[in-house]
Amino acid sequence: MPVPFIEAGGPANVYVIDEEGGGVALFDAGIGTREGRDALLAGFAALGLKLGDIRRIFISHGHIDHYGYARAAQEASGAPVYAHVRDHDKLTGRERTALRLDQYAAYLEKLGAAPELLSHVRVHWQDTGRMARPVEEVLPLEPSTVLQFARFSAEVLHLPGHTPGLVSLWAARERVFFSDDHLLEVVSPNPLLDLEGNLEPVHRALVEYIRSAKRVRELPVELVAPGHNAPFSGHVALIDRLLGFYARRQERIVSLLTARGAQTPAELSAQVFPMAKRSQHFLTLSEVMGNLEVLEEAGRVVRSTVAGRLRFDPI
Ligand SMILES: [Zn+2]
Ligand SMILES: [Zn+2]
Repeated sequence: MPVPFIEAGGPANVYVIDEEGGGVALFDAGIGTREGRDALLAGFAALGLKLGDIRRIFISHGHIDHYGYARAAQEASGAPVYAHVRDHDKLTGRERTALRLDQYAAYLEKLGAAPELLSHVRVHWQDTGRMARPVEEVLPLEPSTVLQFARFSAEVLHLPGHTPGLVSLWAARERVFFSDDHLLEVVSPNPLLDLEGNLEPVHRALVEYIRSAKRVRELPVELVAPGHNAPFSGHVALIDRLLGFYARRQERIVSLLTARGAQTPAELSAQVFPMAKRSQHFLTLSEVMGNLEVLEEAGRVVRSTVAGRLRFDPI
C-alpha cells in the first residue's frame, strides 16, 4: 500500500497468510487512505480473495501505515484484531485525546522544544485520524505465542523500540523473520518518543531498540520480510551497521556536550540535525533523546532539571 510520507521507507506491506481450515490471516493491515484501500483490494483480487475471507488480523505496532485499514477489514470480515497491549491505545485512538496532547506539550517543553513543535504534533495527530479509523476492540497479542497457520507457524517476538508494543513474527523452521518496522533495509527505524499516557516516558525507545536488535541479531534468519519494500537478507550486517550508526551519533552528542557544556535535548537536536525541516523536528528530537538515554545508561552523561528544563552534562 502506498504511504504518503517518505520517512516510512516505501510502500507498506500487508502479509496475507493462509489459515488452517480456509480463509486468510493478515499480518498488518496497511493504511486507511483511498490509495491504500485500492491497492489492498487489487492485491486481494489478484489472489482470488475478498475481504470477507479474513479470519484474524494481527497488527505489528500502532502506526497508521500498519493498522490504518484494520477497522475497515474488520467490518468487512468480522475478524478479531490483535496487537501487543502496550500499543492498544494507538489503535483505539485513546492515545490522541486532549489530555494526552497536554502531556506531550509539557514533556516537549521540558526537553526545550519551541512551542511551534506542539502545533506540528497536533496537526500530525489530526492527519493520523484521517488515515486510520480507530479500532473499537483490540485483543492482546501475547509475546512468545506461536501462531499456527496452514503452511507454517510463527512465534510472536515482542521487540520494543520503534514503539513500546512492537512485535515481529519469527517462522523458525523456514528462517523467515517478519520484521515490520523493527528492521528496514534502507531507513533506520526511528525510535520515537512515546509517553504511553505517562508524564515522563517509561519507554526508553533507543535503549530498548538496541536490546531488541541484539536479540534479533542472534536468530538464524535467512530472509527478512519487512514492513516496507521488498524482502532482503543479511540481517547481521544490517544490524551491525545500525548499531555503528547510533554509536557514532552518541559520540557526536558527547563531543557537543564536552565542547559547549550542559544543553537541553532540543538545543542538541538543532546542532545534530541542522538541516531538519520543521515537520521532522519530532523525529529528530526523539532520536537525540533516545541517544541521550543510551549515554545516560552507559554512565557517560547525567541529567538535571533547571527552571523546568531538562539538561544533560557530560561525565
Ligand atoms: Zn511503517
Ligand atoms: Zn512504524
